[in-house]
Parts: sequence; C-alpha cells; structure tokens
Amino acid sequence: MDQTHVAEDPLGELLPVGILRFDAGRRVCEANARAHALLDVAPGRLLGRSVMETFLDLRIERFLEEGGGTTEVRVGAGEPRTVILRAAPTPDGGTVVVLEDVSELRRLRQIRTEFIDNLSHELRTPISTVSLLAETAAREAAADGVPERLRDRIAKIEVETGHLAQMVAEILDLARIEGGSSIVPEDDVDLARLAELSAERLRLFAERGGVQITVDADPMTPIVRGEEQRLGQVLVNLVHNAVKFSPDGGEVAIRVRAEGDGARVEVVDHGIGIKRDDRARVFERFYKADRARVRGGGTGLGLAISRHIVAAHGGTIGVESEEGRGSTFWFVLPARPPAASTPEAVAS
Ligand code: ADP
Repeated sequence: MDQTHVAEDPLGELLPVGILRFDAGRRVCEANARAHALLDVAPGRLLGRSVMETFLDLRIERFLEEGGGTTEVRVGAGEPRTVILRAAPTPDGGTVVVLEDVSELRRLRQIRTEFIDNLSHELRTPISTVSLLAETAAREAAADGVPERLRDRIAKIEVETGHLAQMVAEILDLARIEGGSSIVPEDDVDLARLAELSAERLRLFAERGGVQITVDADPMTPIVRGEEQRLGQVLVNLVHNAVKFSPDGGEVAIRVRAEGDGARVEVVDHGIGIKRDDRARVFERFYKADRARVRGGGTGLGLAISRHIVAAHGGTIGVESEEGRGSTFWFVLPARPPAASTPEAVAS
C-alpha cells in the first residue's frame, strides 16, 4: 500500500460494509471503496449515478422510494454477491444505504442444509429397516415361551427406533424449511376448521392420558392466506406438547380469534409450565426444558420447526407460562403473508 496515501474518508474505507449516500435528487453523493467493490464499479465512478444506474434493479428503486428498511438482494455484474441492503432517509431528504456482503454466509448455509439433507437421507433407509425388524421381532416375542427380559429388550428397541426415526424425519424437515424453499403460503386457510382437525388427530393420544381437548373458535375469525398443511403441523405440534406436559385428567383448550386483520391461535394447558429462563429458549433446536420422562418422549425440534413455519407466514409465535400452573402457546398470523418472505426474514 502507498504509505503516503491518505484516504479522504478513512472511516468509510475501514468499515467492512458498503456505504452509499443519495442526495435529495436521488443521485449518489458519497460512496466508500467497499460499495464500489460490491457493485463492481471502478473507484469513484458511483458518484452522480441514479438509483437505477447504481443497482440496475427496478425493485431497489421502488424499495428506496417506499422509505427503505432491510432487504436481501443480488448485486454486482461480474460475480454476483448476495447482500443485505439497509436503507434509511436522512434529514436533508436524501437516503443512506448500507450494504453487507452475506454471500459467504449464504454459501455456508447452503452447504449445511445440503449436508443435513444428505445425512438424513442416508440414515432413513437403515432406520426404516431396523424399525421393521424391531416390529417383527416384537410380534414374534409375544409368543409363549419367550423370556420376559428378552421381550422387554425388544420392546425398548422398538420404542427407541421410533424416536430415532422421528428425529431424523424432523431434522430433514427443519433443514428443508431453513433452506427457505419449502413453504408455499397459497391456500385459503380456515383456522377454526384446522383447530378441529388437529384436536381430532390427537384425541386418541390425549385419551390415553385422560386429557380432554376442547376447541373454542370464534366464527368471526378471518380466513388467512397460508400453507394449510404447514399451519396444521404447527397446531398439531403445540397441542401434542400441551397434552404431553399435562397431568393425567387435564384439559387442553385451543382458542381461535380474530386479531387485527389476521388471526390469533392459542393452545392452553394446565400442565408443568416452563421456567422463566427456559421460556425464551424452547423455540431453539433440540432445546428441552424438562428432560424427565413425559408422555410420548420428544426430539426438541417441534417448536423450532413451528417458529420457522409461522415466520414464513409473516407471523409471530410465543409462549406465556407459569411454572407448575401451565402454559399458553400462541401464534398470530396476518391475513396475508408479506409477498417477499425471503429465507432471511425466516431465519431472523
Ligand atoms: P419436544 O416436545 O419434542 O421435546 P419441542 O420443540 O416441541 O420439542 O419443545 C421443546 C421443549 O419445550 C420441550 O422439551 C419442553 O421442555 C418445552 N415445552 C414445550 N411445550 C410445552 C408445554 N406445553 N408445557 C411445558 N413445557 C413445554
């Protein structure tokens, strides 16, 4: 590097992000070296360019006109880069734009997704073979003359293989959802009906523990736009958990209501509840607050998957709980998910 060179804007040059300023007439009036590099433009050549000349993308022009915010875009002509673009208006009527290069992060995320995908596929075949063999062995072990100890062991193998199979299926599902391509929110979804269906699906499981599931759905709840099968999966996850963590003879209530122009769904139980410290973490992958034996076991992935599904619909999921008294898991959905629900929006 030239020792005598003093950058005009050393701070702007040192920052690992691209910085652009547009004046009130929407022309570039300031741009650091990183912005030039990311946009594949020779040093100094961004000055005076319009938004369209800078990004060569009509959507960005519209995005800035609408007041900015955060979005993920591809930029650069030679080797396109994936950048997170953050924009905000300035007091003088201009706009500042910060470009953060996330190409490497996205590449790594893709590798991770593919790795998990491949691994899960490889695991599925041997697991289903072992499951089938365990099932057959359990049936054969029911015959007279088979020692009790052997029968117990075979039963345990069968149960654990079931858990393993479920975990692999859920990891595969999570990897697909995190990849950002598997949710298509294009159905008109009647959440009241979906709540009834979910209750129906879990009634047998609940009855085994003497737990009763009730549905209280307000007929004024609007129809929301979403992927019905995925939203059903969220409901089943929440109700399944509510039953699992309820005492014998307990009650689980599903409530469906209008909220804003969208809908709110609540799953209420009077079970063991969740400690304050655990509450924020139960939506993380593999997180289990209570490792004690509970009805039906679990993988710690159901809530992580549910959170992704709700986020992909532009909604929010949360929990209120009191230890020893019960929990209310809820999610809120807008009538329509935002058009550009990018994987980034989901991941954050
Ligand atoms: P899993 O239920 O398979 O373990 P989840 O991701 O669905 O995985 O849940 C993560 C953890 O959150 C559970 O292990 C449990 O500790 C806690 N949890 C979820 N739902 C409830 C509930 N209704 N009551 C108490 N704890 C709950």
